[in-house]
Amino acid sequence: MKTFNYARAESPEDAVRAGGRFIAGGTNLIDLMKLQVETPEKLVDISRLDLNAIEEKDGGLLIGALVPNSDLAADPRVIALYPALSRALLAGASGQLRNKATTGGNLLQRTRCYFFYDTHAACNKRAPGSGCDALGGFNRIHAVLGTSDQCIATHPGDMPVAMRALDATVVTLKPDGDRRRIPLADFYRLPGNTPHIETALEPGELITHIALPAPPAGARQLYRKVRDRASYAFAIVSVAGVITIEDGKIAHAALAFGGLAHLPWRDPAVETALVGQAPTEATFAAAADALLADARGFGHNDFKIPLVRRVLIAALRDLTQDAA
Ligand code: SF4
Repeated sequence: MKTFNYARAESPEDAVRAGGRFIAGGTNLIDLMKLQVETPEKLVDISRLDLNAIEEKDGGLLIGALVPNSDLAADPRVIALYPALSRALLAGASGQLRNKATTGGNLLQRTRCYFFYDTHAACNKRAPGSGCDALGGFNRIHAVLGTSDQCIATHPGDMPVAMRALDATVVTLKPDGDRRRIPLADFYRLPGNTPHIETALEPGELITHIALPAPPAGARQLYRKVRDRASYAFAIVSVAGVITIEDGKIAHAALAFGGLAHLPWRDPAVETALVGQAPTEATFAAAADALLADARGFGHNDFKIPLVRRVLIAALRDLTQDAA
């Protein structure tokens, strides 16, 4: 690990003024620093800031960025109103990591692409312009949607997938004192020609809260994750679903996917294929067709395309059972 400076922030304003890489739980950043994938000159410790409350606000929840993943998963309001979020959190990492990892940090996890972590490999995300060894290499865990010829990495998170289906908003504080509210729909970026730029955050901008609106009344929710082992594994494919049924038809549908793209993937065409339709096998197949219209495998990850079709259809059956 390379040497770095360290400062402890006493307030959010203090943190953004300090100028450095923020660290809280450190469950991803410390690993990256040990491997010298990330070599920040200065760490600003935000772990003692007063950002660890879960408050009821505007009919929804305002979640402090430092709320540990395990606390968020166990909050009775989250379990009652946002079960997809609670299940997604519990599907992530291990118990020890969930105790340490924060809500804000979870949003900012870096990809688990093998070549990103190998400093001898070509990787446009780690070293812009160096190439992408995943394109012609072993790419079993890589993306099939929204890729570019610069990067085919996936976002590794579970929690952000559920938050995408639940229409979360990221609340931030900028170094100039301005606050921003960034819908999660606008927070993450596709790789394009700049895979090293992953979010809409500006340099020095601090996530202070995540806001969740009230879920639709009567919403059925689900988080389903397919992974290589039953615990402590990233999603090969995951889906978060929020659906309401009225008069035997799907009235509201929000589906977000993990393991498929550089960001938690949500496609309006999938929801258009569902809303207003009876929950039949033909409707589910149409939604899967919409999701996968532009899907492209890169060899080892081709299996994800039929896999996510099956996962989506199974999730839709579960979400709509007893509704007809
Ligand atoms: Fe790097 Fe992205 Fe290519 Fe992986 S897929 S090697 S993260 S550029």
